[in-house]
Amino acid sequence: MTDKLITNVEQWFRDRGITTENGVTIVDQYKKMQEEVAELGEAIEILTTCHPMCSAVAEDMCNDIDLELGDVVVVAIGLAKLHGTDIRTCLSKAYAKIEHRKGKLIGGQWVKEEDL
Ligand SMILES: [Mg+2]
Repeated sequence: MTDKLITNVEQWFRDRGITTENGVTIVDQYKKMQEEVAELGEAIEILTTCHPMCSAVAEDMCNDIDLELGDVVVVAIGLAKLHGTDIRTCLSKAYAKIEHRKGKLIGGQWVKEEDL
């Protein structure tokens, strides 16, 4: 994710008036994020339940996951702006929180040490 791409997405929101000045709230954008996360979940569900014989279709499904995951990131960028911050700051804070985290991989999920 390049900084230019993030800037372009932020401008995309401004160009379409998806701003607090126009009454759009973080709750509105959070609802959009829930929709996009659900679409990502559907794409993952389809891919992971696809019969092994349909590998030709699987490539299209992988592309769908790329697109759906991208939608989630786009909405996150917009949500950050509506909250008066930006996604770079949010990502930095999140990484600082996990950077030195210790834990264990259990059943495909990373479980932080304090939850073990
Ligand atoms: Mg989508």
